[in-house]
Amino acid sequence: MKIEKICILGGGTAGWMTAAGLAQKFAHTNMDIVLVESEQIGTVGVGEATLPHIRFFNNTLGIDEAEFMRATKATFKMGIEFRDWGRIGDRYIHPFGDYGKPINGVPFYHYWNRQRLDGDRTRLDDYSYPIIASELGRFRIPDTDLSKIESTFGYAYQFDSSLYAKFLRRFAEGKGVRRIEGKVVDVKTDPETGHVTTLQTETGKTIESELFIDCSGFRGILIEQTLKSGYEDWSEWLPCNRAIAIPTTSAGPLMPFTRATAHKAGWQWRIPLQHRTGNGIVYWNEHISDSEARDLLLSNIDGEALASPNQLYFQTGKRNVIWNKNVVAIGLSAGFLEPLESTSIYLIQEGITALLELFPDKYFRASDASEYNAKMNLYFERVRDFLLLHYIATERDDSPMWQYFRQMTLPDSLQEKLDAWNSRGHIIKYEFGAFLPPSWVAVMVGQGLLPARYDQRVDSMSDTELRATLAAMKTEVGIAAQNTSHHQAFLEQYGAAISKADA
Ligand SMILES: Cc1cc2nc3c(=O)[nH]c(=O)nc-3n(C[C@H](O)[C@H](O)[C@H](O)COP(=O)(O)OP(=O)(O)OC[C@H]3O[C@@H](n4cnc5c(N)ncnc54)[C@H](O)[C@@H]3O)c2cc1C
Repeated sequence: MKIEKICILGGGTAGWMTAAGLAQKFAHTNMDIVLVESEQIGTVGVGEATLPHIRFFNNTLGIDEAEFMRATKATFKMGIEFRDWGRIGDRYIHPFGDYGKPINGVPFYHYWNRQRLDGDRTRLDDYSYPIIASELGRFRIPDTDLSKIESTFGYAYQFDSSLYAKFLRRFAEGKGVRRIEGKVVDVKTDPETGHVTTLQTETGKTIESELFIDCSGFRGILIEQTLKSGYEDWSEWLPCNRAIAIPTTSAGPLMPFTRATAHKAGWQWRIPLQHRTGNGIVYWNEHISDSEARDLLLSNIDGEALASPNQLYFQTGKRNVIWNKNVVAIGLSAGFLEPLESTSIYLIQEGITALLELFPDKYFRASDASEYNAKMNLYFERVRDFLLLHYIATERDDSPMWQYFRQMTLPDSLQEKLDAWNSRGHIIKYEFGAFLPPSWVAVMVGQGLLPARYDQRVDSMSDTELRATLAAMKTEVGIAAQNTSHHQAFLEQYGAAISKADA
């Protein structure tokens, strides 16, 4: 009863990541993997910033990092800079890494918190190597010697997503995946089981399969249009519902971070790639018109526009059932949370990993699907809570959008996390989820949400010892960051820089 045929519908980032992941997994079997996509429909055309998890995905495929970076014109990313979130004029970086190093098994930020409550005003950021290196525009690969401050971070990439899909297509086709060009216009299901059996393209091709992966984007051709799986609307918590994207020429030194600047009815991204900069605005259309949003975006970009603005519409949330019968939705067809923390590609990756873990046979047991759905629900919910944190940990009330967040009743899961933090700076840890405690600390501290007490485990140190330890850490971070290469120089030295002709 082994599955021998898989059909992936859609060739965006989700489709080709899934094809590559499955092709690698089933390389030594006679699994027949087909991917159907339509050039006429195209892809969503955004999705340039990632989380460090993507490195594990690429590593599993055995991809050479420098080659992948040249092919996708990628830059390194050590975090996200947030501007105007806690208060207009504020800025902080959410680093992909830690603050200092743990002391006696207690996270470093607890020591900082005690010193802060004693009246010291040193920024927590000054103890974080990835933040200080980012601010200086520096980058290196993390040190493998864990005693060094240069080991205390991870990194991700900022890349051209259409080039990433092409790169993975070459990989997947090299492993035997067959691509079929065509617009799917009809889907047949089994009258008894309701399982999808065949797809029919506009030109009359019929594709028969056993397991179908729906990577058809927001359309959700199989999971929604065919199987009516339903959508859990999370607009109540994440009401931004439109975006406009525009690429521009590069301007200024190449920084190893994405920027997210808050506006009165949404926020704007800036993603530096090697050959251009990706920009876009995400907004809530109840409080700003499309033309006003476009003007706001265009008045805040550096560099020349390289294309006309691309308008996108979305509703945050997720499918009620992500694996339904013999269809598993991966990518935008499974759900979408706005791109504030670059989480969509990460969710695609979790979708692929969970599918491989729970890979079905032709019986399609309900227990596999329900475990998959429970897992994916958790991943989505945890991302939702983390995104929402950015909108509620703020003093801003200068527009109807910010006032809306002030009166909101939060999901219990987020409220519990906030209560633990507010009382003594404790972060409740999750078993699953993208964001580890330092990420939560970054946003809470960065946006001015500071605990009333400190964790008494740090009382093992005297005041003098505490001051000396923190001062030494700040110096160590500063020196290490100053000794790190500039981002552009590192790309060249690493063999990841694109040629002048490709720039
Ligand atoms: C404004 C915005 C910004 C974003 N920024 C980020 C970011 O920085 N980081 C991040 O991780 N993610 C980001 N995302 C999400 C990211 O773009 C997507 O998760 C990613 O591109 C995957 O999309 P997809 O492959 O699911 O869908 P799509 O790219 O839409 O691909 C759908 C595929 O299905 C095919 N298809 C559809 N219908 C048919 C049919 N009838 N017949 C045949 N083929 C069909 C299409 O041709 C296409 O190949 C962003 C999304 C938005 C909206």
